[in-house]
Amino acid sequence: MSSLQPVRGTHDLLPEAMRRHRRVVDSARDVAELYGFLEMATPIFEFTAVFKRTLGDTSDIVTKEMYTFVMGGGKNGEKDDEGSSITLRPENTAGVARAFISGGLAQQVPLKVFYAGPMFRHERPQKGRQRQFHQFGVELIGVPQPQADIEVIACGAQILAALGLTEAVTLELNTLGDPESRNRYREALVAYFSDHSGVLSDDSRERLTRNPLRILDSKEEGDRELVAGAPLFEDYLNVQSRDFFAAVREGLDNLGIDYRLNPRLVRGLDYYCHTAFEFTTDRLGAQSAVMAGGRYDGLIKTMGGPPTPGVGWASGVERLAMLIEQDIPAPRPIVVVPVGESAQVTALQVTQQLRQSGFAVDLGYSGNLKKRLQRANKMNARAAVLFGDEELAAKSATLRDLDSGEQELVSLDSLSERLSHFA
Ligand code: ATP
Ligand code: MG
Repeated sequence: MSSLQPVRGTHDLLPEAMRRHRRVVDSARDVAELYGFLEMATPIFEFTAVFKRTLGDTSDIVTKEMYTFVMGGGKNGEKDDEGSSITLRPENTAGVARAFISGGLAQQVPLKVFYAGPMFRHERPQKGRQRQFHQFGVELIGVPQPQADIEVIACGAQILAALGLTEAVTLELNTLGDPESRNRYREALVAYFSDHSGVLSDDSRERLTRNPLRILDSKEEGDRELVAGAPLFEDYLNVQSRDFFAAVREGLDNLGIDYRLNPRLVRGLDYYCHTAFEFTTDRLGAQSAVMAGGRYDGLIKTMGGPPTPGVGWASGVERLAMLIEQDIPAPRPIVVVPVGESAQVTALQVTQQLRQSGFAVDLGYSGNLKKRLQRANKMNARAAVLFGDEELAAKSATLRDLDSGEQELVSLDSLSERLSHFA
């Protein structure tokens, strides 16, 4: 592979793609702020332990997908880096939890934050699956009640609605219960799958001891048949877990948010509990999840912080951007066109003034009138401001509406005011 190609699984966001990307992030940001979430950012890399501890040694991300490197250290006298194992963040909940602990934010609960930025996973690239991709996500930390689950899901649903995607997605919902229910269910699963361990795939046989819930998530044909007959979580939920789930469902019902119960929707790690959900689509082939989340009451304690509940989700910006159907046009500029040498200086000044007044203005670098107007059309300019000797003498300009072709002579003093009609 030529060193001038982008690295496999990475993509440039050229202007057209960037506009869709930005539409997704801008809409998400606007809606998240309506729900009282505040934006924050964590570093793109963290000590590897931050992810190992939170994602668990057996998760796909930790075992296969992390970009990890060890700093040689000692350079420029920065001794504290020496021998440190560093990982590019594969997701951002761990980073937020780490910041919560190291920043001493425990006094600030409930903490409602959102983030947007690149994530890195070394997985097999396909449509909708990249090695550098972007997530937008929200975290609501410090609220044990089901209202928090309802609020983060409602926020996600409203973002998808703002993007015109309500019809394109389905909300799938499940509960993982509290730790007691989970342990009982885990035992039942281990008993069931152990009876059939000869039929299990190698991966799943390994999960049987380390992470049995993950077998429910297996994509292997043989496993799936077994899974179809596996015990249901529902039958192992204690009263508190049942009540919690009922409250979440009732809240969603009250808000008119549709969902489909999916008893096979799981999160493998111990600190996940109660609500698990995913917004999925059938429009992106195999890559069906566009937003995924759940409750993680044990996470912050697992990391060494004070016991603090939390719930949140992360969405794949590229996947959402692919779902937005319409092209997003570039903003339409005003073009300033000097005709002849003497107009150059005035054109530059007028361009500057207009930009300072908040208009998007382009000034061709060179060429005759015809060439410049052609270029203005090509950039889909809304209007052209033309200067020749005559206009200059009259301290005015010819303003041409490039859609209707109409033009008028406007004094330079009133140019701004006239142009505002084109905005
Ligand atoms: P998948 O089952 O598709 O691998 P996941 O369970 O690994 O998803 P999460 O860790 O829950 O995904 O991340 C949340 C969201 O981020 C996903 O629903 C998806 O939209 C997006 N996402 C995850 N991995 C990628 C990737 N490699 N490329 C693009 N988007 C991704
Ligand atoms: Mg994945």
